[in-house]
Amino acid sequence: MAFRLFNTMSSRVEEFRPLIGKEVRMYACGPTVYDYGHIGNFRTFIAVDLLRRFLRQSGYKIRHVMNITDVDDKIIRNAARDGVSVQQYTAKYEKAFLEDAAMIDIEQPTLVRATEHIPEMAEFVTRLVERDIAYRTEDGSYYFRIAKFPQYGKLSKKDFSGMVDGARVDVDEYEKDSARDFALWKAPKPGEASWDSPIGPGRPGWHLECSVMSMKELGESFDLHAGGEDLVFPHHENEIAQSESLTGKPFAHFWFHARFLLVEGEKMSKSLGNFFTLRDLVLKGHKPSSLRYLLTSVPYRNQLNFTFDGLKQAAVSVERLRNFRLRLASGAFPAGTSSEMQSLARETADRMRAALEDDLNTAQAQAAIFEMIRRANAAFDSGAIRKDDIPPLLAVLGKFDEIFAVLHDDDAPRMKQVLEWAKAEGRDKDVTEKLQEAVQSGQLSDADIEKKVGEMEAARRARNFKVSDTLRTELVTAGIVVENTKDGVRWRRK
Ligand code: AMP
Ligand code: ZN
Repeated sequence: MAFRLFNTMSSRVEEFRPLIGKEVRMYACGPTVYDYGHIGNFRTFIAVDLLRRFLRQSGYKIRHVMNITDVDDKIIRNAARDGVSVQQYTAKYEKAFLEDAAMIDIEQPTLVRATEHIPEMAEFVTRLVERDIAYRTEDGSYYFRIAKFPQYGKLSKKDFSGMVDGARVDVDEYEKDSARDFALWKAPKPGEASWDSPIGPGRPGWHLECSVMSMKELGESFDLHAGGEDLVFPHHENEIAQSESLTGKPFAHFWFHARFLLVEGEKMSKSLGNFFTLRDLVLKGHKPSSLRYLLTSVPYRNQLNFTFDGLKQAAVSVERLRNFRLRLASGAFPAGTSSEMQSLARETADRMRAALEDDLNTAQAQAAIFEMIRRANAAFDSGAIRKDDIPPLLAVLGKFDEIFAVLHDDDAPRMKQVLEWAKAEGRDKDVTEKLQEAVQSGQLSDADIEKKVGEMEAARRARNFKVSDTLRTELVTAGIVVENTKDGVRWRRK
């Protein structure tokens, strides 16, 4: 089967194929680095990460570019408020963004920064002015003349037939439904940070930045352009207008948009008190892997409602996956194969692939792996699983993890970084006991824990309860949960 993906431009699910050979050239709108990233941002970035990983698993080479918006009205305002340069201000949040992305296993695309492409952007504006598609206003700003692009509205399916030639908007916050000539380049207001350029001093508009950098890195026509659904209009509509009116060629072939994340059923906002950054969740003691799992558990075009219950359930799911792998890797099995387990592995791999090929249906892919775990666990318990069934079952888990990336247990060291950051920022009061416990549990390696659990069991069998109790206490203090199961003693990190 072929990979089918929804294309916002055609409003249909279409077969996805790169324009050239086996290489996918994709561009994702990145963060505006004026604050810490929130979980809504990361829903979109994880959706793109999943797409990238699945394309690679499907045999494609990936050229994936993402911009860092390191200049806009808010950044200029906040930097001035804090008395620092724009560069100093954004460097801090760019670093935080990259740390956060790594913490939830987002593979890093090639990064491009707006402020590093000022000459290219000035040149782009000059070419638009030469064709009378852009014009200069008295203050030295430049605007895009929407009336020159009759297809304006084709992505967002808005009808702009009543457009007023020359009506302008010069802020980054747009009205939802109005077509206005938008700023390509903004002249500085007195005292505002600005850059010198051949078209005069000023700063680039947000839309211009993405058109220029995507085409520079990927060519005038490339395969896919991605972002959250709020970017369809005006951002992506404006990128198309600028790019296509200059090149006369289709800009991006596929438009990929992730649905907005809700929190406890509402739009996330600081005033509602339901606004969370990734770091807020880690401070509360939640694992990065739980969030990654939760954010992938609903297909990217469906409504995902973030709740703390959901986050806890996601942690349980990740734990089940990890335990299952541990069980496969550490169990002793009779020689041979069982045809049932062999076909279970094959069927699961097929079901997972079919789900992801169906517009990245992550929920179905996860359902397939949990069905496998359920049936394999039953086979474990009845002794029906054989030694040579283990490699194919592990291989399916491996394929799953190439996309979902939650099986390796790196949570504790990552949470420790957040703990250290909070202390450095003077936010000690936000560090919870749960976070401290989780960090503690990472101080012991798996091998250390195995050894202590073994010693504890040996002491208990020898009825040396004083020693076994001391060891148990040591483990619990280090954040390790020790449980007695019918297979013997099992442990896990809190
Ligand atoms: P920004 O830093 O605001 O430019 O946003 C970075 C990315 O996050 C963009 O692709 C946005 O569309 C996306 N985004 C922002 N808020 C949400 C949300 N609540 N849910 C999903 N994606 C979002
Ligand atoms: Zn963009």
